[in-house]
Amino acid sequence: GESAQLIDGKAYAADVRARVGRQVEQLRDQHGIQPGLAVVLVGEDAASQVYVNMKAKKTGEVGMQSFQHRLPIDTDEQTLLDLVHQLNADPNVHGILVQLPLPDQIDSEKVLAAIDPAKDVDGFHVVNAGLLSRGQLDRALVPCTPMGCLMLLEDQLGDLTGLNAVVLGRSNIVGKPMSQLLLARNCTVTIAHSKTKDLAAVCRNADILVAAVGRTRMVPGDWIKPGATVIDVGINRLPPEREGEKGPLVGDVDFDSAKQVAGAITPVPGGVGPMTIAVLLANTVTACCRAHGIAEPT
Ligand code: NDP
Repeated sequence: GESAQLIDGKAYAADVRARVGRQVEQLRDQHGIQPGLAVVLVGEDAASQVYVNMKAKKTGEVGMQSFQHRLPIDTDEQTLLDLVHQLNADPNVHGILVQLPLPDQIDSEKVLAAIDPAKDVDGFHVVNAGLLSRGQLDRALVPCTPMGCLMLLEDQLGDLTGLNAVVLGRSNIVGKPMSQLLLARNCTVTIAHSKTKDLAAVCRNADILVAAVGRTRMVPGDWIKPGATVIDVGINRLPPEREGEKGPLVGDVDFDSAKQVAGAITPVPGGVGPMTIAVLLANTVTACCRAHGIAEPT
C-alpha cells in the first residue's frame, strides 16, 4: 500500500536548538545575559541519568550555563526542598528541572510546588498547568514533550483549526497538556484513556492521533483514519535479542501497519524524543527573557 510521510523530529529539533543558540548569542551580545538551566537528579536510575546527561550536554552546546546537582538516593525531602529554594533565589539560574521519578520518601507534588513557576521550565507547577488550561500560553511555561508534538504538527499541517484530534493518555506530563494545547489551536479534542470504550472507533475519527500510553505497538494501522497525522510519544523497550544487550525502542503505534494508512507519522526513535530537550532549552530562554523583562530574540 501507500507509505506515510515520515516526520523527522530529529531534524526539526536540531533546527530548534540552532535557533536557541542564536537567541543565546543575541542575549549575550545585546544584554550581557547568559541563560542558565539547573538540573537536579536524585539517585542513580539508569534512564534518568541518560536524560540528565543529555540535557546538560545540549545545554552547553547552545551556549547556556548548565548547573547539575546530583543527590544520593536516600536524600530526604527537606534537603531537596532547600536546594530548590536556593535555586529559586539564584539569579544565574533561569530554569529549574527536577528529574522525575523521585524516590519514595520524597513527595514529588510538594517538590514541584516549591519551584518558582517563573523558573519551572518543565511546566509541571500547578500555576503553569492552570495558565495552560486557561489558554494563557503567552504567560505559561508549557510542558516540553507536548509542546514539541504541537510544533511537529503545525510544521506538518499548518493551521490545525477544526481538525479532530484524539489524544491517547491523560497524564499530567503528556496527555492532558497535549489535549489543552490542541484545544488552544482550535482542534476538536477527544481524550482517551484506560477506561475508554471502543478505542478503535474513537481513534478512527482522528485527523490527528497522539499516542502517549506507554504500551508497545498498541495502536494498529486499522485504528487509523486514512491520511491522518500520527504522533507517537511512546518509548517502550523490547526485550533484547541476545542476553546482555539492550532491546530496541518502539512506540505505542505499530509503525509498520500504521504507515500504510497514515498521511504522516513520527518514527520511534527519531520523532518526538529529540523535541523534548529542544523545547526545554527554548523554555529556558523564554524564562530568562521574562526574568529580565526583555523581548525574546527571534
Ligand atoms: P503514564 O503512564 O503516566 O500515562 C499513560 C496513560 O495511558 C494513562 O492516562 C493511562 O490511562 C493510559 N493508558 C494506559 N493503558 C491504556 C490502554 N490500554 N488503553 C488506553 N489508554 C491507556 O505515561 P506518560 O504519559 O508519562 O508517558 C506515556 C508514554 O510516553 C510512555 O511510553 C513514556 O515513556 C513516553 N514519554 C516520552 C517522552 C519523550 O518522548 N520525550 C516524554 C514523556 C513520556 P489511565 O489514566 O486511565 O490510567
